Amino acid sequence: MKKIAILGSTGSIGTSALDVVRNFPELYEVSFLTANSRTDDLEKQIKEFKPGAVVIKDKLAAEVFKSNTDFKGIILAGEEGLIEATKNFDYDILLSSLVGFAGLEPTIEAIKRGKRIALANKETLVAAGEIVVDLADKYNSEIIPVDSEHSAIFQCLVGEKTEDISKIILTASGGPFLNTAYENLKNVTVKEALNHPNWSMGAKITIDSASMMNKGLEVIEAHWLFRMGKDKIDVVVHPQSIVHSMIEFIDGSIKAQLSLPDMKLPIQYALSYPERLNKSYTDTNFSSIKNLTFFEPDFKKFECLKLAFDVMEQGGAAPCILNAANEIAVEKFLEGKINFLQIPDVIKSALYRIENYSDPELESIIECDRLTRELLKKEMN
Ligand code: NAD
Ligand code: MG
Repeated sequence: MKKIAILGSTGSIGTSALDVVRNFPELYEVSFLTANSRTDDLEKQIKEFKPGAVVIKDKLAAEVFKSNTDFKGIILAGEEGLIEATKNFDYDILLSSLVGFAGLEPTIEAIKRGKRIALANKETLVAAGEIVVDLADKYNSEIIPVDSEHSAIFQCLVGEKTEDISKIILTASGGPFLNTAYENLKNVTVKEALNHPNWSMGAKITIDSASMMNKGLEVIEAHWLFRMGKDKIDVVVHPQSIVHSMIEFIDGSIKAQLSLPDMKLPIQYALSYPERLNKSYTDTNFSSIKNLTFFEPDFKKFECLKLAFDVMEQGGAAPCILNAANEIAVEKFLEGKINFLQIPDVIKSALYRIENYSDPELESIIECDRLTRELLKKEMN
């Protein structure tokens, strides 16, 4: 029996993970759950999964929750509650599925205890990749990717050596604006940007998919997770999202992992690895799929993807600055304060002005993240 702690249990990944847990009551139980402010959903999860504790990030929501609930377990609040739970509570696997930079510090606490991390929160590796993978090595904490592309690479690597990889090929759906002309991107609506063709996900990652920043973040994620240089990571657009990613080996052989898109598969694998569990969520029928197509991404149209490659080259805290600026830009786009093409502009304006650090410590990463948000929020209100 494994005890699972879920950061962000009310989100898209969190609820899919609970679907997996529900299917295997003999294998998994829930240690603690966390939510930002959606306490109604959390209450339902508590009734079904009976965690020992919950953390509610929003302190006001936590107060209201405490006075209305009959939950007898521990209730913590705020960022400090997330840290306390990951640092002190009893669990075997942490599913890191908060959205954004907020996931970094609690994930690090779990790594320092040598726990398995089922990692969905890619921002953790984008902002502080080197620190995170070095700590994972030091404390013998396994980071098993949940992101479908990285899970695909991870699955293809079973029985192989990383030094035999000649190239990682990350596939990208291209998002809802794959066939939209550049000059029309300025006028796309929030609703259109949230309408992803293949995946149903939280708002932030859905906008990232529309701008292809998601793929950029995933390139940096792959760089740290598999310790691969920039020249060894390719992105190919594959609109069907059936081939989740590929590895080309030094002998020219290519391995891919395929299935219809459903995040429950990589989540389940990250929990059960090295075992596979006997529960399938998809029925991949090649006769009905018919076409699998692949082509080059358009770096001019999707400038965010290019910016991500650039900051990876710059290194230091540059990816952290890009990540923080992107979080703010996406928030402002969702609020209708900037148009879609201003997202990369906001990011560039932060990268020009916030000082980069080489070999940053965690404290400098946290400071860079804070400074970037402060600068942009002041200007964009
Ligand atoms: P989501 O918005 O659906 O859920 C986010 C969860 O985090 C919610 O439970 C929310 O309450 C909580 N949360 C949000 N902001 C918080 C904060 N500041 N502090 C504490 N808790 C907070 O997001 P999602 O789509 O589930 O994505 C979660 C992470 O997984 C992201 O990093 C995303 O990039 C990654 N991911 C998601 C998918 C997917 O299919 N949804 C696929 C690959 C990777
Ligand atoms: Mg992905």
